[in-house]
Amino acid sequence: MTAHKGRLIIVAGPSGTGKGTVENAIMEKFPEIEFSVSVTTRPRRDYEIEGKHYFFISKAEFLKRIERNELVEWQEVYSKNGHYYGTLRSYVDRALEQGKQLLIDIDIKGGINLKKAYPHNSISIFIKPPSAEALEERLIKRNTDSPEQIRIRLERMPEEMLLGQQFDYSIVNSDLEAAVDAFTEILKQDDYQQQRSK
Ligand code: 5GP
Repeated sequence: MTAHKGRLIIVAGPSGTGKGTVENAIMEKFPEIEFSVSVTTRPRRDYEIEGKHYFFISKAEFLKRIERNELVEWQEVYSKNGHYYGTLRSYVDRALEQGKQLLIDIDIKGGINLKKAYPHNSISIFIKPPSAEALEERLIKRNTDSPEQIRIRLERMPEEMLLGQQFDYSIVNSDLEAAVDAFTEILKQDDYQQQRSK
């Protein structure tokens, strides 16, 4: 995967599907793929670095950026806490101009909107859990959600799976290695199509 004209690799899926682990493995395997840094109003977690994981901004600043049309897409991801997440237009455009490949970790609706904004320079990949039971088991093991939050996440799944059909590709993440292989195949296939359409 060399000499690229730049592309956005949009990755979404229900939470608890292990998409972060798959993404990290892909970025390790292909160092030329960069993580796309979004803006968010949620507080920074201890291990997170400004400008690496997110650009952390205030809600007032976020609203200003929406007004100035600086965000290609944005969502209030967890309506309960009222935190906003968005993709910076200038960040994405610059990366594409430079021929970079950006991996964009995004919520499902945001992923669909971003694909519409960049139909020719992006591929969208939906990462699914093998089953509702597997997802429930993962969420319980992860131990970051209360039983009530887990119930809400599981209730959302049928709608999320329907939205997932709008993605270009989907991968069932039952085994990390197999998921990374499937992801790699998708990237190669898309490379091939890019070469042919040159
Ligand atoms: P977290 O707070 O755990 O980092 O992320 C919560 C959710 O926000 C995840 O589903 C993540 O993919 C999503 N997210 C991160 N950045 C963006 C963004 O720029 N736009 C949208 N729509 N969602 C995002």
